Amino acid sequence: MNTYMRLPVTFVKGKGVWLWDDQGKRYLDALAGIAVCSLGHCHPKLVKAISEQAGMLIHTSNLYRIDKQEKLAHKLSLLSGMNKAFFCNSGAEANEAAIKLARLYGHNKGIDFPTIIVMEQSFHGRTMATLTASGSRKVQAGFEPLLTGFARVPFNDLEAITQVAAHNKNIVAILVEPYQGEGGINVPQVSYLKGLRQICDKNGWLLMLDEVQCGIGRSGKWFAFQHSGIVPDVITLAKGLGSGVPIGACLAGNIAGEVFKPGNHASTFGGNPLACTAAITTLNVIEEEDLMSNAMEQGDFMRKTFQTQLEDVEDVMEIRGQGLMIGIELSKPCGDLVKDALKKELLINVTLDKVIRLLPSLVLKRSEAEQMVNTVSTLIREF
Ligand SMILES: *Cc1c(COP(=O)(O)O)cnc(C)c1O
Repeated sequence: MNTYMRLPVTFVKGKGVWLWDDQGKRYLDALAGIAVCSLGHCHPKLVKAISEQAGMLIHTSNLYRIDKQEKLAHKLSLLSGMNKAFFCNSGAEANEAAIKLARLYGHNKGIDFPTIIVMEQSFHGRTMATLTASGSRKVQAGFEPLLTGFARVPFNDLEAITQVAAHNKNIVAILVEPYQGEGGINVPQVSYLKGLRQICDKNGWLLMLDEVQCGIGRSGKWFAFQHSGIVPDVITLAKGLGSGVPIGACLAGNIAGEVFKPGNHASTFGGNPLACTAAITTLNVIEEEDLMSNAMEQGDFMRKTFQTQLEDVEDVMEIRGQGLMIGIELSKPCGDLVKDALKKELLINVTLDKVIRLLPSLVLKRSEAEQMVNTVSTLIREF
C-alpha cells in the first residue's frame, strides 16, 4: 500500500555502520533502521546464532514451554529489576500489552473506567490504542473515533500530573518515554522520573516506561530509567532488542507482574525460539563488547563536537540527547536534509519537521562518529 514516502535507494548488503546499495555505492548509516540494528548490520555473532537456531527450531507455539524465551525473560529480569515478561513482535504490541495490563489492574481495584496518563509529543505506535496514547495529531488524524481512557499532560511537567490526580479518581497508570524519540529527542530534567515514581507510589498508579527507542544500551545504560535511580512497574521494549529480528517485550515487576492470568493476553508469534535467540545474542554482545560505554562515549563526543562545529550557526537552536540518541533542532523545517545527506552517502532522519535525529548502531567507532559529525555539520551549513 501507499504507506511510505520511500527514498530512491535499495540496500543489498550491510556491515557494522555501513550499507551498500544495488549500484555498489557505500553509505554511512546514522540511523540503524530507526534504532533497531543495535549491533550494526549483520554482526557475525548474531548471524551465526540465528543461523544455527534456524537450523534447529524456528517456531513452536506458546502452547508449549520455550527454553530460549525463558532464558531471555530471565536475562531481561536481571538487567531491569522486573520479574515477569510477555513477548510480542513490535513496540506497538509491547505498549498494547502495557495498556491492557494497566486497565486490568484498574478493574481489579474496582475502577470501572481506568484511565492512563500520557504525554504531549509522545509516540507509542500505530495500533488504535497506541496511536490514541501518542501525543501527535499527525498519527491520529483520520482514524477517529479514538479510544477513551487516556488523559494527556505536557512532558516534563510534574505539576500538571498532580493537578490531574486531584480531579480524576480513575487514573491507574502513567505511560511515558524516559527520553522522547519521535517527539524530537527530548530529555527531561534529571528529577522527572523520580517525581513520577513518587506520584505513582502516593496514588497507587503503575509507572510504565516506553523504552522501545531509548532502551537496550542506547542511552549508555541498559535502560534509560537507570540514569535516574528509580525502578518502574512496567517497561516496554522492541526496536534494538533483536538487532533487526522483530521482537517486542513488556516487562513487569511487583504487583504489575501478577496482573495477567492465563487467557488475558497472547501472541501467536511472540517469543519464538528464533526471535529470542536474536535478543539473547544482542544482549550478550552488548555486554561482551562493552557497547553501553561505547554508546555513552561516542554520543558525548558527537554532541560536544557538534557544539563546537555549529557554535556560530544561528539556525541551530539546540543540540541534545543522551548516549547515541542525538537531536539537532533547527529554527526552520529541514526535512530536505535527508535527501541532501543521501547524496553525500549518509543516512539520517528528521523528526517533528525541524529536528535532525541520529540513532547510529552501538558499535560505532570514533573515526565513523567523526565522519558522521563532519558530514552533518557540512550539510547544516550548506542548508
Ligand atoms: C518506534 C516506537 C514505538 C512503536 O514501535 P513499532 O515496532 O513500530 O510498533 C513505540 N514507542 C516508541 C518510543 C517508539 O520509538
